[in-house]
Amino acid sequence: MAHGKVFLVGAGPGDPKLLTLKAVDVLREADVVVYDRLVSESILEFVPKDAEKIYVGKSSDKHELSQEKINELLVNLALDGKKVVRLKGGDPFVFGRGGEEAEALADKKIAFEVVPGVTSAIAAPAYAGIPLTHRDYASSFAVVTGHQAADAETPIDWGRLAGSVDTIVVLMGVGSLESTANDLIEGGLSPSLPVAVIEWGTLEKQRSLIGTLDTIAEKVKEKNVKPPAVIVIGEVVNLGSKLSWFKTLSR
Ligand code: SAH
Repeated sequence: MAHGKVFLVGAGPGDPKLLTLKAVDVLREADVVVYDRLVSESILEFVPKDAEKIYVGKSSDKHELSQEKINELLVNLALDGKKVVRLKGGDPFVFGRGGEEAEALADKKIAFEVVPGVTSAIAAPAYAGIPLTHRDYASSFAVVTGHQAADAETPIDWGRLAGSVDTIVVLMGVGSLESTANDLIEGGLSPSLPVAVIEWGTLEKQRSLIGTLDTIAEKVKEKNVKPPAVIVIGEVVNLGSKLSWFKTLSR
């Protein structure tokens, strides 16, 4: 039997309307969909009724199925001749471990395509009225993880980041926000630099909280902000007060 194909597809940040037309096309043709926790239920409605849906519910600290098992599953489904959609929140190549899955497929010579998605790193700030760049305030941004693998070979050098980039976007960073903020202050950023935390960005339940490097961790605790949330650090955050259009920001 001919080998199938795997599509590594970005489901976008939450609002189902932010799905790409290509993602919809691929979902409509799927034999199997392997999907994560941060994929909106309504997106699965594009999948044919008789297609198989497999939930592999990954979250940053609890893997329902290990990455190795997920890789194996994708390979085996494709070897069975299936058209497989591997559906991930946001963009598949931004902290989605899509790179590792693509490697596993390439190693087994299985055909695959990548369908980029709208990443929460950009969309959640956008829905909070925060542009990551602006001619007056920021000409660069970096997207960083706040949750590094315990065995990471190169720990994040927050000091270096603080000195080299205007806007810092942290994903998976709620749990470690206090230490991140402290590291950035130690790295030379002003304690009064504005910070926004956007919880469940682009969805009806979106909440945004604004503070400064020295107050944000406390505020997040106070308001009980939980993952998933995107953290934005930099002068551009001030624009949110003027440009928030989707939901109000709280201080
Ligand atoms: N590939 C995804 C990121 C996966 S890592 C992307 O491109 O968006 C998971 C992290 O993404 C979460 O911990 C959170 O920081 C962020 N995230 C994903 N969806 C989000 C949402 N709707 N609102 C806020 N943060 C979100």
